[in-house]
Amino acid sequence: MYKLAIIGSGGAGLAAALEAAGSTDDIILVTKTRIGSSNTALAQGGISVSFGIGDSEEAHYRDTLKCGHFRNVPRLARTMVKEGRSVLRWLESLGVLFDRDARGRYLLKHSLGATYPRLISCKDRTGAAMVKVLAEKVKALRIKILEDYPVCDIEKKKRCFVIRCVGKGPSAIEARNILLAAGGRCFAVALQKKVPTSNSREATGEVSGIARRLGARFVDYNSFQYHPLGWADPQPLRGRPIPESILSFGAEISGKDGVIRIDSMKQRGALSSLLLKEDRQGRSFTLKNGARAFQLNLKPALERYGEKVIANTFPGFLALCSAQGISIKDEPLFIFPTLHYQNGGIAIDERGRTKVPGIFAAGEITGGIHGTGRLMGNSLLDIICFGRRAGSSAVAGKRVYA
Ligand SMILES: Cc1cc2nc3c(=O)[nH]c(=O)nc-3n(C[C@H](O)[C@H](O)[C@H](O)COP(=O)(O)OP(=O)(O)OC[C@H]3O[C@@H](n4cnc5c(N)ncnc54)[C@H](O)[C@@H]3O)c2cc1C
Repeated sequence: MYKLAIIGSGGAGLAAALEAAGSTDDIILVTKTRIGSSNTALAQGGISVSFGIGDSEEAHYRDTLKCGHFRNVPRLARTMVKEGRSVLRWLESLGVLFDRDARGRYLLKHSLGATYPRLISCKDRTGAAMVKVLAEKVKALRIKILEDYPVCDIEKKKRCFVIRCVGKGPSAIEARNILLAAGGRCFAVALQKKVPTSNSREATGEVSGIARRLGARFVDYNSFQYHPLGWADPQPLRGRPIPESILSFGAEISGKDGVIRIDSMKQRGALSSLLLKEDRQGRSFTLKNGARAFQLNLKPALERYGEKVIANTFPGFLALCSAQGISIKDEPLFIFPTLHYQNGGIAIDERGRTKVPGIFAAGEITGGIHGTGRLMGNSLLDIICFGRRAGSSAVAGKRVYA
């Protein structure tokens, strides 16, 4: 029997494993496919931490609550914001290299809904850069790692939990405590709703179902967030997001009636709702393949900042465009809101404890931190902050009770 079983190897699971391994090697990490394969690895824009001139933890906290429609659990949101700097320092101490200017200051981008620029990135591949470093560190630990182990059931016994999976792998794993870090379920929900999604195929949510059967409490479980800038065309990119921070560089969105004015204080959810409303009122374009779309015009951004700055800031996005033969100088892109994030989930406390003794949770599978709308960049912060907290409390002493 293991002291702790961690389910999922996105940012939350990996951060939890690293923290828990500081106390014991008696840990198993099980994950659906390959280690690090996750939504975290797809994250582009960056992580929100208040570093800019005039910015403060208080301003970040206020923006977080406003975006969450004040449904956030205040002490969770406060904890996340307060730990921003230590999360960043921890990631850097492991080897994540965030973008800085020639004088060594963080390059801060403005995100929708934020009062100050506070998005810190590794170009436009922040999640991949984080996962690479975290996964390397976890692989170097002396803990057991089981890949291709999609958990399908967890049974509660008197002294432990028994984990079962579909497919190959050990038929059962016993663990004293369990840490659920299996992410959200937007891929499955998008299939049901027949809408595009930005999420990885692994985001199917069966572990949330298991947690419910075990007695976990949920908050705002059916609240979701749409990303306003999903690709509508070409088909291979459909649903994938274009980094929203491109809007702060001056990119414009247009419908049939011309340019749609964007208030930079508008939150992501509000902008998506505006576009969906414009669409319902017949002001979107219909593409040859039947998909509805708006145009995203990057010319103003190129004129204002120059090609070099845009290329340097969004290399991943530009590589995608050139792979599809799209020239952002000559033609607009076609976008439509895409299902992006599960706002709610399993209720936790500041130590990642759930209502069920012995079960901990962290990351997108949880709820309460972001209320019913997440501020951009707050998820990468949340998964590391609460991943570490849950990892540490899940191996602390005896079973703990929430
Ligand atoms: C395209 C994209 C861009 C984004 N950009 C940003 C950004 O710039 N900034 C930001 O803050 N947030 C961003 N987000 C959101 C953020 O990346 C995620 O919310 C966050 O990374 C979730 O981390 P997680 O560890 O909780 O879950 P995930 O990273 O999704 O990891 C879940 C893990 O659990 C595993 N798993 C799932 N089911 C099972 C099972 N049954 N058995 C075993 N293992 C299982 C998965 O394989 C995976 O390894 C973005 C999301 C997407 C999709």
